[in-house]
Amino acid sequence: MPTFIVLLGPPGVGKGTQAELIAEATGLPHISSGDLFRENIKNTTELGKLAQAYMNKGELVPDDVTISMIRSRLSRPDCKEGALLDGFPRTTVQADSLANLLTEFNGKVNFVPYITASESTLIERLSGRWTCKAQGHIFHEKHNPPHKPGVCDFDASELYQRDDDKAETVKRRIQVYLTQTAPLITYYRQLGLLSEIDGTQPIEKVTEALMAVLGKIA
Ligand code: ADP
Ligand code: ADP
Repeated sequence: MPTFIVLLGPPGVGKGTQAELIAEATGLPHISSGDLFRENIKNTTELGKLAQAYMNKGELVPDDVTISMIRSRLSRPDCKEGALLDGFPRTTVQADSLANLLTEFNGKVNFVPYITASESTLIERLSGRWTCKAQGHIFHEKHNPPHKPGVCDFDASELYQRDDDKAETVKRRIQVYLTQTAPLITYYRQLGLLSEIDGTQPIEKVTEALMAVLGKIA
């Protein structure tokens, strides 16, 4: 049976950072819906043009296009053993679609680590986030600085500050999270899949807590 992990939590809590580390430890592919959209924007695809308008405002991209993008990503052979989903699902409609989709792959959602932090922590993290242009590697100017300012440690590409990490857009993204995504906490808790993790700890402690939750596979 494949293993599917859904990383849940507000913007800036550390999902992408942890997903990179957990993907390396488990061998599961890291699938970030935000990265997939940003790749489409970079390649100026129709999907990218559509997504950009929503992303710039801090709104969610409509469910139908998001679900079909994830469906095609999960259909790739590297997801045969499962995947680590970061940023998807973000609505209950997406969560229902994911459940249906995974039955097609003889799988289901196995773990939902839910990472938490206060709003002021999220804002501080997003305002200091630097992202790698080539592959989306994540740094923080204070908490996880690159060896050389402005340069990715992993692929030497340029680091940039995401447009949607501006203060006004961050506020909107947190609001959108609270109204549209937070219902997934109850959704997955009721299914007995949710494990809460304190995201205010240092990066390596959060990883340890995650690995403990995922103990059966790592
Ligand atoms: P998300 O994917 O949930 O939006 P990221 O993984 O991109 O979050 O992290 C947001 C910012 O916070 C990044 O700059 C990252 O380096 C930093 N960060 C992540 N986890 C921690 C942590 N445990 N402590 C301090 N900073 C962190
Ligand atoms: P963060 O690092 O803050 O969690 P992401 O990179 O996951 O941000 O997402 C950036 C933007 O991409 C979101 O604000 C939203 O516009 C869009 N997006 C990402 N994932 C989804 C999704 N599952 N459903 C709808 N929109 C999404």
